[in-house]
Amino acid sequence: MARYTEAYCRLCRRTATKLMLKGERCFTEKCALERRNIPPGFHSTGKRRSKMSDRGLQLMEKQKARYTYGLYERQFRRFFEEATRMQGITGENLLILLERRLDNVIFRLGFADSRSQARQILRHGHFKLNGRKTDIPSCLVKASDVIEWRKESTKSEYYKTLVERIEDKDVPAWLSLDKGNMVGKVLNLPSREDIRTNFDEKAIVEYYSR
Ligand code: SF4
Repeated sequence: MARYTEAYCRLCRRTATKLMLKGERCFTEKCALERRNIPPGFHSTGKRRSKMSDRGLQLMEKQKARYTYGLYERQFRRFFEEATRMQGITGENLLILLERRLDNVIFRLGFADSRSQARQILRHGHFKLNGRKTDIPSCLVKASDVIEWRKESTKSEYYKTLVERIEDKDVPAWLSLDKGNMVGKVLNLPSREDIRTNFDEKAIVEYYSR
C-alpha cells in the first residue's frame, strides 16, 4: 500500500499551514513552521510567498487535505469520486469519508499522536475491528464498530506508555473510549460539525469540478 513519505514539515511550509503531522512536536517551539514560515527551497534567498490565483488557492486547499490525511492524489481522488456519488453536500461527504478511515479513527481515539503513527501501528497488526484482526488503514468504520488492541500487543512498551498517557486524551463526540480497557467505539458517523479542519472543503470541490 502506497504511503506519503516526503518530510512532513516541508508539507506544512509549502502550504503555510500547521497541518499537525508530527504529533507532540507540532505543539512545541520545535515546529518548523513556527520557526521559519517560508516555502521549502527559499531559505537562502529570503523570497516570500507570492499572491496566488483562485485556481492556485483551490489546489492549495486540496493539497492541505491530502497531506493532512496522508494520501496520494490517486487515493484522494477516489475518495472525492465516492463523495460525489453520495447524497448530500459533496465537500461534507468527502470529509466524512476521510474521517471514517480506520487510521484516522485510531488517531482520533488517542492511540497514536499522528495519523502516520496510527497507520504504522495499524499495519503492524496491533488492532482488532469488531473482534477480528485488521491492518488496513483505508478501511472505513461504521456506527457501532468496536476498535480494540490485540491481546499480544498489550505487552508492548508502546502500549504500556500509552496507558499512562491516555487519561489526558479527549475523543470527538462521534467516538467513545473506554480508557480502562482501551477500547474505542464508533457511536455514530461524524457530521460536518464534528470535524475540525484547517482547509476549506468547498474549494476542493471547486478544484475538481473545473
Ligand atoms: Fe507541521 Fe508539525 Fe512540522 Fe510544525 S512540527 S511544521 S505543525 S508537521
